[in-house]
Amino acid sequence: MIYWTEELSRKPFPLDYEGCVVASNGTFYAATISCKNVPVITVIKPYLTGSGDIEVARGLRLAPFMLTTKMHVPMISRSIQDTTLRFFQDVYARMAQSEALVLLHFSPTEMAWAQDAPPQVVNPVSVAPEPHPSPMGYNLMGDIHSHGHYPARHSADDVKSARTTGDLHYIW
Ligand SMILES: [Zn+2]
Repeated sequence: MIYWTEELSRKPFPLDYEGCVVASNGTFYAATISCKNVPVITVIKPYLTGSGDIEVARGLRLAPFMLTTKMHVPMISRSIQDTTLRFFQDVYARMAQSEALVLLHFSPTEMAWAQDAPPQVVNPVSVAPEPHPSPMGYNLMGDIHSHGHYPARHSADDVKSARTTGDLHYIW
């Protein structure tokens, strides 16, 4: 349900506005990023924060809303996963149980994933990739890195800083 408010009417909506949600923790708007009319990503972003006054004014009990991002992309293929795993196993075996990293690229026109390994400095507790361009027509979407003999969960370093740009960060 969408409620129009005085505050909303004063602030111009972003160009990619498609609809909005008013919740107890703010107002959010939905936007879909498309390529050649094919939706690639739908995001719901904050527009105004703290709309408790709307709740009081209307006597409503609005629920809080969680930010969401939905990607309309194909699954990452088995062959990409297999190649990545073999690379990680190879680095682990040859380089003193070191971590390693693979970049994930996505082509919105091909609706296809590609992966490659950038130049990187590896050791058993960290991996540092160097800047590396995406293949022609592909955008960097994130990375997958291995944890050698450590559990496959986000370490303090992983949480503090994503090693590459892009939004997806997997750990194996
Ligand atoms: Zn890590």
